[in-house]
Amino acid sequence: MNKEEITELLSTDAKNEELFLCADKTRHKYVGDGVHLRGLVEFSNICKRQCKYCGLRCNNKNIERYRILKEELLECVQNAVKLGYKTIVLQSGEDEFYTTEKLVDIIKEIKKFDVALTLSIGEREEDEYREFKKAGADRYLLRIETTDRELYKKMHPASSFENRVKCLEILKKTGYEVGTGSLIGLPEQKISSIADDILFFQELDADMVGIGPFIPHPDTPLKNAKTGDFILALKVMAITRILLKNINIPATTAMETINPNGRIIALQSGANVVMPNVTNTIYRKKYEIYPGKICLNDAPTKCRNCIESKIKSIGRYVACDQGFRKK
Ligand code: SAH
Repeated sequence: MNKEEITELLSTDAKNEELFLCADKTRHKYVGDGVHLRGLVEFSNICKRQCKYCGLRCNNKNIERYRILKEELLECVQNAVKLGYKTIVLQSGEDEFYTTEKLVDIIKEIKKFDVALTLSIGEREEDEYREFKKAGADRYLLRIETTDRELYKKMHPASSFENRVKCLEILKKTGYEVGTGSLIGLPEQKISSIADDILFFQELDADMVGIGPFIPHPDTPLKNAKTGDFILALKVMAITRILLKNINIPATTAMETINPNGRIIALQSGANVVMPNVTNTIYRKKYEIYPGKICLNDAPTKCRNCIESKIKSIGRYVACDQGFRKK
């Protein structure tokens, strides 16, 4: 599909059923029926950036900030391992407290549990990415958010599009499995630029692509903006599956936030990964990138059981390997 064809497909709802079915078949053919669970640890909500959509932006004074320090973080990981998670994802705001040295130490400790490790901690320097990889990190998630340069500038007053792309290229070159993705429904975002996003994932040869609807946060400049469209986000995900075939695609939490059955619908329209939260319940409310996040009061055990029964209810199963991209 070229840009025109993708744009056309995104602009009509006439072919949705066919599109979702085709994405589901492609998923089945290339990555099978196993669903990979990644245990997500949200270890710090402190952030130096000013992303206009995100509740963690440094300008937001209405949020109680926290950091989970090494010992507690490792307990959290150990619990997740006991629950059967084979991949741990460490996510945070861009928090400089976690120096290369501190992170390398944490990475090495986590790798002793014999799990795959994904980092999602934003933009860092090339030598830092190299150190994390050497310490054992396997994957890195860094969404491009939008490939529309003008929109990117408006949405990210304290960051540059060029550096974001550069980071993704360095991560690829350093040998990570690289995850990227975009937000769907940002104010002024054009359908044609979403088509560019999909072509960008293809060009980068992303190993994982996470697509989520934009959800306005009341303590950000975008508080009065419209919520992103669930079906449009689903279509972007489905087209990404059809074009990139064997990659990993998560059914994102943001999808479930705006549609009570969002993750299951996503799993039936191209997705093969779910990232349940394994952060201790006391911190979950505070990691409010957008409002209405699901499972805020649930303990990690509950989330694990809940998602497994949902997965089984649609005839799929929880995969028991580490879930690297099947090339
Ligand atoms: N600091 C890390 C992690 C960011 S949080 C980084 O820069 O990569 C993970 C993702 O949450 C972001 O990439 C963004 O796409 C998403 N997100 C942030 N605010 C959101 C909102 N208001 N609605 C939906 N998704 C949002």
